[in-house]
Amino acid sequence: MRIAVMKENCPGERRIPLIPATAEKLVKLGADLAVESGLGLSCRFEDADYEKAGASVSASRRELLQSADMVLRLRKPPKEEIELMRQGCIHVSYLDPFNEAGLVELLCRAGISAVSLEMIPRSTLAQKMDVLSSQANIAGYAAVLLGAEHLDKIFPMMTTPAGTIKPARVFIIGVGVAGLQAIATAKRLGAVVEAFDTRPVVEEQVKSLGAKFVKIDLGETGQTKDGYAKALTPEQLALQKEGMTKACARADVVITTAQLFGRPAPRLIDRKMLAEMRPGSVVIDMAVESGGNVEGSEVDKITEISGVRVLGFGNLPGRFAETASQMYSSNLGNFVEHFWDKQTKVFNLNRNDEIIKGALITHAGEIVSEMYKSIINK
Ligand code: NAD
Repeated sequence: MRIAVMKENCPGERRIPLIPATAEKLVKLGADLAVESGLGLSCRFEDADYEKAGASVSASRRELLQSADMVLRLRKPPKEEIELMRQGCIHVSYLDPFNEAGLVELLCRAGISAVSLEMIPRSTLAQKMDVLSSQANIAGYAAVLLGAEHLDKIFPMMTTPAGTIKPARVFIIGVGVAGLQAIATAKRLGAVVEAFDTRPVVEEQVKSLGAKFVKIDLGETGQTKDGYAKALTPEQLALQKEGMTKACARADVVITTAQLFGRPAPRLIDRKMLAEMRPGSVVIDMAVESGGNVEGSEVDKITEISGVRVLGFGNLPGRFAETASQMYSSNLGNFVEHFWDKQTKVFNLNRNDEIIKGALITHAGEIVSEMYKSIINK
């Protein structure tokens, strides 16, 4: 089975989909692995490193796409490349399907079996392939470092002959994978950390990391069967804002990570709340690319609002491209290995498997994901 791995061409993206160690793993499985020339350069891997791992290297994108039984890449495919792929080709990447209905339609019409890595279910078995988690971990870490860099104060308490410096206060809103990593990172840097999430189950996790959970009574909230937060009513959102205003005002750095699966991120901090914060404070909107948690935040910009620096940087995992690529590549390798038939040396797209059922969006000219259909048709 021929697996082609495409070089990422999105401007500013330094992450790569496959590192040589994973290439070696796929070759050992018996795959005929071909990578695009220059695949690993942004992480300092040469073509020769992939050749040493047993892959072939081609400079022709067209040839790679036309000959592949399976295509692996990082981000969604460019529309003009879809018609180059063979009918029945399995395409595995981030797909952002809820915002890319047109692309999904094209993949469907071309008869591609498109796997969206974002849709892999949150099960114990699938953890090793969960790109959302691996990248969110790095994003949480990156957000804290950004906060530390843009704050004019230091994070840790210091007792010195020049006086005692108080520790910085960090407030983290949304305690999923990114939020937990942000809490751990801010604690390691010596900050006093508070956190809030609408899912009451996270309170224990927040406490176990040595942070304080901010309690706000919103009534019935809860989570979906996959562990994602449910959307709040407008009344609950208003209550949440009211409850969080004080926690924001006493913080030097606020990091917002709140997301809703398949929907725009909830708007949690408005200009009035920013005006209550001390000038010089820093807010990092980690949801800026999916609609934004903070009023006035802009993608890849620092916006100053009432003296507060609002940072809206996208692609936070890409700031630590080497580690992020290592983790993405490992997730991808685990996905392929999990469904690899060792006798026939072929990827078995088992339509009865829960992971494939969750992540496969299009197949044989049809949209097959029930979750995608239910959200897109709402
Ligand atoms: P996410 O990226 O969808 O959202 C980030 C956080 O924002 C979540 O904790 C969510 O509850 C929170 N949020 C949403 N609306 C909010 C609001 N109005 N105010 C405050 N917070 C709000 O979440 P995620 O990081 O993908 O994690 C979702 C859940 O899945 C977590 O419980 C996580 O531990 C779990 N998970 C399980 C597995 C697994 O079992 N394999 C893997 C990864 C994550």
